[in-house]
Formats: sequence, C-alpha cells, structure tokens
Amino acid sequence: MNSSSTPTARFVSTGTLPGPEEIRSLVEAAYENFREEAGGKLADYIPALAEADPSAFGICVANTRGHAFMVGEAAETFSIQSVSKPFVFALVCEALGAAEAATRLGVDATGLPFNSIMAMELRTDGTSNPLVNAGAIAATSLIPGFGADDRWHHVRQGLSRFAGRELACDEHVYESEAANNQRNAGLAHLLRGHGRLYCDPDEAVEVYTRQCALLVSARDLALMGATLAGGGVHPLTGEQVVSAATCQRVLAVMATAGLYERSGSWLYDVGLPGKSGVSGGILTIAPGKGAVATFSPPLDAAGNSVRGQLVMRFLSERLGLNLFISAPAAHL
Ligand code: GLN
Repeated sequence: MNSSSTPTARFVSTGTLPGPEEIRSLVEAAYENFREEAGGKLADYIPALAEADPSAFGICVANTRGHAFMVGEAAETFSIQSVSKPFVFALVCEALGAAEAATRLGVDATGLPFNSIMAMELRTDGTSNPLVNAGAIAATSLIPGFGADDRWHHVRQGLSRFAGRELACDEHVYESEAANNQRNAGLAHLLRGHGRLYCDPDEAVEVYTRQCALLVSARDLALMGATLAGGGVHPLTGEQVVSAATCQRVLAVMATAGLYERSGSWLYDVGLPGKSGVSGGILTIAPGKGAVATFSPPLDAAGNSVRGQLVMRFLSERLGLNLFISAPAAHL
C-alpha cells in the first residue's frame, strides 16, 4: 500500500457525535457562554466587511448523516472568504491528483500572516500552502478551464456541490475587494515570476476574489465540512463530491495551516483541522464524525474570529472531537 492509495474501510477515522439532546445543550451552552464576548475587531481592509454586524453570532454542528444543530444566526449568509480555500484545494486535488497538487502548491505551514509576501520569498521554490493567499491564488490558477469565466464556473459549481445548494456571489463584497486588491495582485505577479502561478495573474486574482465573495451561512459551512468529514459524500444530497483520498489531504493541510500563524496554538487546544476567514467564519472538521461552523465577525490580530475560537475550544473536548485525546489501555 503506497501513501497515495485510497483509504480502505479498515483504516478510517470513525465514531459518532453525541446524541441530539447532548449536542443541542452543548451548542446552546457555547452560545450563551460567549455571546457577551466583546473582543476582536472587524476586518476593514476590505471596506464591505467593515459593514458587518459585530454582534451577529451563529453556531452549527452537522454530523456526517446530515443532522444539523443550529443556534443564533446560523442561517445568516456572509462571504466565505478564506474558508473557500480548502474546498478549492480539494477541487485541484481531484483535477491533478494530491501528489501533483502538493508539488505545485506546497503543503507546509508558513508561520506567517495569511497575506504574507515574505512567506513566498523565504522558500526558494516560491511555494507555500493552499490555505494562505499566495498558495490559494496559485490553487485557483490550477482550476481547469479556459479563461476567467470558465474557471469561475468550475469553482462555483464545485463549492455549490460541497454545500448541497447553488451558492451565489455577493457582488458588493466582490467589487469592494476587487477595488482594494493590490496586495493579492502583487502576490499573483510575484508567483508568476517564480513559475508558481499556472494561468494569467489578473485572471487568477479575479476568480480568487469572486470565490472569496461566495455567500454561505454557518449551516452551509457545517454541511460542506461534514462532506469533507465523511469521505467526500454530501450528507444530504448523497453526492460523492470529491474522493475520500482528497478529503484526507485537505484535512491534513487544514490541521497544519488553517489558522495561519495561529495554526499551532489552534491544534494544541482544539486538536482538529480548521479553517478561518476574515468575514468571521470558522469551520472545524472531526474526521468521520462531522463538522462545526461558527460565524462571528470580530477578529483577533491574525484574522481569526474571536468568538469562533472560543466556541471551538469549548466544544471540541465536550463533543469528544479532539483527535489527540487517548486513555491508557488498561483503564478502558
Ligand atoms: N479575500 C481575502 C483576502 O484575500 C481572504 C483572506 C482571509 O479570509 N483570510 O485577503
């Protein structure tokens, strides 16, 4: 069995979330515990994001069978921003194979902010990973298609299949970011110079910016995450969106790089693959079991939702999700 073979039924993460009553009471407790939390501030480098309601707060837990538990504004939509990145990487793995995708994009944590130019320059080959802006723009450039419209269609269709419904782009957010996107444009052109961007730089940035403006709710994110948690099958539509082997690789990158320079402390406390975005979403995956998504716009200095992180630190252990917890065999 080589490292790129498809996982077999004998060797997969299994287990279930607690029963519905317990999940409901824990999700409600998390909401009550952190609804008064006032830390963090709204992202304002994309002007439209500064218009968000800082008090908006929603949590959704979905299992791999499609049962969803929601509290607060879990059905309210917001632009997906960086939480799109693992899903676009999944589409690239499907198109190229996970090994080729890793060679072209890199899969190592940068330890630096999400929009770092230095992170790309520090590596001699110009790669980073698909969950920071440079690697994500490079991933978008690997999406099959001729021209921006074709690539955009592929991205929107792919993410819609993950969500189990047709996702739409927030034109206001798109226009706002497109008008203030010089840094991402710079990253794309530098990547091209390194031979690490695989289509025209302006086209890659346009599609990437649109992908970040796709509208999702915490419930959508939880179902998208439950698809990654469940071998690539959407829990409600039953569609095999991507292969189980692709999910495995996407979760690995989320574990090492999903919360930018805070990825280490996240994994240390939460013990799960995660991904945050600057509009306030955080998606956390429990392989084999399900996913937890939160929405709360105020961010810490690294660009991660403050309440979202508190909720995940609270729920991970209480829902029995942390991947690193064990007990001595003799006590079982
Ligand atoms: N669209 C945002 C950007 O490129 C996404 C960043 C994020 O969510 N961290 O800057």
